[in-house]
Amino acid sequence: MTPQAAWLAELRRLILLIAAALAIGWLLGGPWALLSAALIVLAIRWLWQMRRLLHWLQEPAIEPPEALGFWGEMYDRLYQLQRKARERENELRSRLDYLQDSLSSMHDGAVMVTAGGSIEWSNHAAQRLLGLRYPADRGQALLNLVRLPAFHRYYIAGAFDDPLQLRMQGEYEQTLQFAITPFGNGDRLVFVRDITREAHLEQMRRDFVGNVSHELRTPLTVIKGYLDTILANAEHLEGRFQRPLEQMSQQTQRMENLLKDLLWLSRLESVRTHARREQIDVAGLLQELVDELRTLYPERALALQLDTGATIPGDYRELHSAVSNLILNAFKYSQHDSLVTVSWRQADGELLLAVEDEGIGIDALHIPRLTERFYRVDDSRASATGGTGLGLAIVKHVAAGHRAELRIASLLGKGSTFTLVFQR
Ligand code: ADP
Repeated sequence: MTPQAAWLAELRRLILLIAAALAIGWLLGGPWALLSAALIVLAIRWLWQMRRLLHWLQEPAIEPPEALGFWGEMYDRLYQLQRKARERENELRSRLDYLQDSLSSMHDGAVMVTAGGSIEWSNHAAQRLLGLRYPADRGQALLNLVRLPAFHRYYIAGAFDDPLQLRMQGEYEQTLQFAITPFGNGDRLVFVRDITREAHLEQMRRDFVGNVSHELRTPLTVIKGYLDTILANAEHLEGRFQRPLEQMSQQTQRMENLLKDLLWLSRLESVRTHARREQIDVAGLLQELVDELRTLYPERALALQLDTGATIPGDYRELHSAVSNLILNAFKYSQHDSLVTVSWRQADGELLLAVEDEGIGIDALHIPRLTERFYRVDDSRASATGGTGLGLAIVKHVAAGHRAELRIASLLGKGSTFTLVFQR
């Protein structure tokens, strides 16, 4: 029966009852009294049904009461709604269990933290890696249980674009990587991974590059020394050896530059720059650097614009090397008579150190990959300019060590601007 039909049947029954009460009452000589009596009986019946309904709603687990017509229909409908809600609840619960099971069995640690900073849930790996207990630690403040100052700073700073790596000194050395994802209403999901093996391999790679570069330096210095001596006495040489020897000398120079850059890069990678900071007078540094380069390259037009005297915490040698790489690139990739401008200014709460040229420019396609080691837009041009392919990798590392961003803007045929953006 449809709800409409059940309702109509109930209405029909009511009209019939009223009509019958009036007819019988009329025959008996008191239609209104009988109608009132009939309506009172009806009201009592409805009240009784409502009481049954309320009682059942309080104990929905039991079967609904039996009833005919309209009330029966109402019980059926409510029962169906209730069954559907229960099915949905079960389905949601099993999905939640499934999700928690999968997070629980994850190799990486996962901790759900409320907006107030207390632990809501953690999986087995998090318990193993961070020494948490679950459910015993539920409701405890995460920062009270994970007592790592660097993690505290990372957690409170709220900048989670990059994960945090921490080397733990304990019974045995361990490197952990933390990543935090905010979700919901200020809640956070903290992931922690044991990357000891990866960190060890990375360290070995760095050491290897550093050691190889270091070891290659001595034989190269000897070769270069002999070549220089031979070339200095070129008049005693047979003519046919002159050019090959000159090329050998050029290539050894290139190799020497390469080794120098590789060693510098591996030093930048291994030394914790944040640890040894001094306030750097950037304007002074740029003035000094520009003066040096004007002496070395008197034919080049190099302008310097200093609009702020702001200082930044950093490392003088590193900043010097980064900016000189940028200026030398600007020289390499532009015409000899074009202008290169170095500037230091402040805008929108940021400090900008920019090197701008009017050179060949870079196709937007290459920009995202420029800071990769040995990445070159045009190999033939690069070997002609004598670049090592490591300059921008060095700049990127120095920027990262100073919590600065390297922005590159360029237009093919018009020129490029490389900007180091420091936060105030
Ligand atoms: P390289 O030693 O080859 O110059 P870098 O790492 O310094 O290596 O630069 C990578 C590449 O980026 C260069 O080979 C060049 O193609 C491009 N590049 C860098 N600076 C500029 C610039 N100012 N103008 C145009 N291209 C540039």
